[in-house]
Amino acid sequence: MFFIVATCPFCNIRGKHRGIGINQRFTTGLDKVSIIVRCFACNKDFLATTSYPRDDEDYKQIKHYFNTPTSEVVYPDKVFNIFPKPEFYIHSSFPDDIKELIHEIYTTKSPKVAVMCARAILDYTLKNLGIRNDNKNLYDRIQDAYNQEIITKPVAEWAHIIRKFGNFAIHELKATEKEVDEVKEFIKIFLDLVYRIPYEINKFKS
Ligand SMILES: [Zn+2]
Repeated sequence: MFFIVATCPFCNIRGKHRGIGINQRFTTGLDKVSIIVRCFACNKDFLATTSYPRDDEDYKQIKHYFNTPTSEVVYPDKVFNIFPKPEFYIHSSFPDDIKELIHEIYTTKSPKVAVMCARAILDYTLKNLGIRNDNKNLYDRIQDAYNQEIITKPVAEWAHIIRKFGNFAIHELKATEKEVDEVKEFIKIFLDLVYRIPYEINKFKS
């Protein structure tokens, strides 16, 4: 049984993932190792590869473990390259509906669609956090989140910029690539703040 400490490219969970298959190829002086790794969180398989000069002392140690499959070994991730490369940032603590929209932001060819999705994520998330008053609009919800100390002042100010980009995309059907870059950065920070950070803190509390 062996494990690799790595970040899963599919769900972005970092931890001890189990190696389920190993392939070693020996060429002159260089050993290439590919390991199929199964994520403990999302159960998807990814590939960890490495290559070493055969006479490298660290590698001799690693190789020793590869060849003793009954022992429980944990490999550090710095040794390995992980495939596929994660294409965009998604964390398991994000709601599925939001993950779908993040995927859309990164795959659509249309800047206005990407910006609309970012605005939708912002609005949906604030409602999801309990800032739900049907008489209020997104402007009020951002202010409420700030007043309730759910988001900090710089995040609130940035949220208003994203709101304006979104409104312009919805009403004028216009957005730029530069705005898309900005909404991607905002969404990453915003979702970390409201979903991932509380999730990480709760792990230590429980
Ligand atoms: Zn995973």
